[in-house]
Amino acid sequence: MFQKILIANRGEIALRVLRACKELGIQTVVVHSTADADAMHVRLADESVCIGPPPSRDSYLNIHQIVAACEITGADAVHPGYGFLSENAKFADILAAHNITFIGPSGDHIRIMGDKIEAKRTAKRLGIPVVPGSDGAVTEEKEAKRIAAEIGYPVIIKASAGGGGRGMKVARSEVDLEVALQTARSEAGAAFGDDAVYIEKYLQKPRHIEVQVFGDGAGHGVHFGERDCSLQRRHQKVWEEAPSPALNAEERAYIGGVCARAIADLGYSGAGTIEFLYENGEFYFIEMNTRLQVEHPVTEAITGIDLVHEQIRVASGAGLSVRQEDIRFLGHAIECRINAEDPRTFTPSPGTITHFHTPGGLGIRVDSGVYSGYKIPPYYDSLIGKLIVHGRNRVECMMRLRRALDEFVVDGIKTTLPLFRDLVGNADIANGDYDIHWLEKYLAKED
Ligand code: ADP
Repeated sequence: MFQKILIANRGEIALRVLRACKELGIQTVVVHSTADADAMHVRLADESVCIGPPPSRDSYLNIHQIVAACEITGADAVHPGYGFLSENAKFADILAAHNITFIGPSGDHIRIMGDKIEAKRTAKRLGIPVVPGSDGAVTEEKEAKRIAAEIGYPVIIKASAGGGGRGMKVARSEVDLEVALQTARSEAGAAFGDDAVYIEKYLQKPRHIEVQVFGDGAGHGVHFGERDCSLQRRHQKVWEEAPSPALNAEERAYIGGVCARAIADLGYSGAGTIEFLYENGEFYFIEMNTRLQVEHPVTEAITGIDLVHEQIRVASGAGLSVRQEDIRFLGHAIECRINAEDPRTFTPSPGTITHFHTPGGLGIRVDSGVYSGYKIPPYYDSLIGKLIVHGRNRVECMMRLRRALDEFVVDGIKTTLPLFRDLVGNADIANGDYDIHWLEKYLAKED
């Protein structure tokens, strides 16, 4: 087992990882920018190293500074959290070259899944169902038209190097397609330095369903069930739940089994999430994330398993603590992402939190690094905390969520809490009846 782990992240996820390390008796080092000197995880860590000024590229994305911090403090492993360097293959390779363990998969696996065309090809080879579309990159308009006619309109053009919901264009007809192909290619070239794009069928009313997987690096793969993250705004997840209200036990076992086998065949190591769109009983692979997800706590709630403990175990060579047959699903969990944003316009609302009071009681978990008097710096994303609620079934979970939202107090800044208070009383949400467009339509109606 590791002696000392360096946490290369900030905010709630840095604290989340720190808690797991403390439980496992592992020493902790955190790196932080000058803007985060007062952060909770910096106060709680055994050691901290300031690695630069506020902009991420000068601090949280500065690989050399982070490696230097490992060497100065003698850390033998790095947990990257999510975002920042968590899916940076070069970072994983550099750490390996310094004999420091990257708590995550190999650089090669990160590289494959970071390229969407390569990821889709790999998924197909591993027996994972994919969205019908081009077999690789498309450059010629003629070829694009042929493929689109074959799969049927509407189609979506996606950048191979895209991410974070950027680099996608929908075409509803052949006329649209010409323009969409041109714009998608030039936008992808400008944004990602790679103008490779591909085409796939545009699904009209899908749900976003993702499977939590783990590989032990020794040819074993398990799944921890699925999460439904269909409630999104601008392709950003807002509310996540496990299990999905849309799947039955048979579908769950089927897609979980497919994913676990694929992970085993790939020889994958660590945590991963295989994302699907789901429509009319069919699953369509869209991408794989090779890291811990923001929404991992809903899976922890229904399985009772600490996924960060498992990540650390696997990276240290100790293997998973569970086999597939030990993983059982109990009840229902929902996570609400609390952002420092205006709940209607979603414009960021940084500033000082004058009062912060979190709900408690059975089935309530709040993951947050903020506190009363904390000043939110304007340089990073606006997530200030996550409310995760667990109940024996979805009805109980919703009852508990409603009450927890009433108790939650964040004064001094605007947050997305009022949005969740509205959603929890909505009939479609109560029925679990929503697709990936539901939230945007709802917000448009409210305006
Ligand atoms: P990113 O890496 O940028 O998040 P994804 O491939 O995961 O890109 O897609 C992000 C979102 O875009 C999906 O959650 C879904 O809302 C939408 N999307 C992607 N592909 C399709 C598709 N073929 N049909 C309909 N919507 C899609």
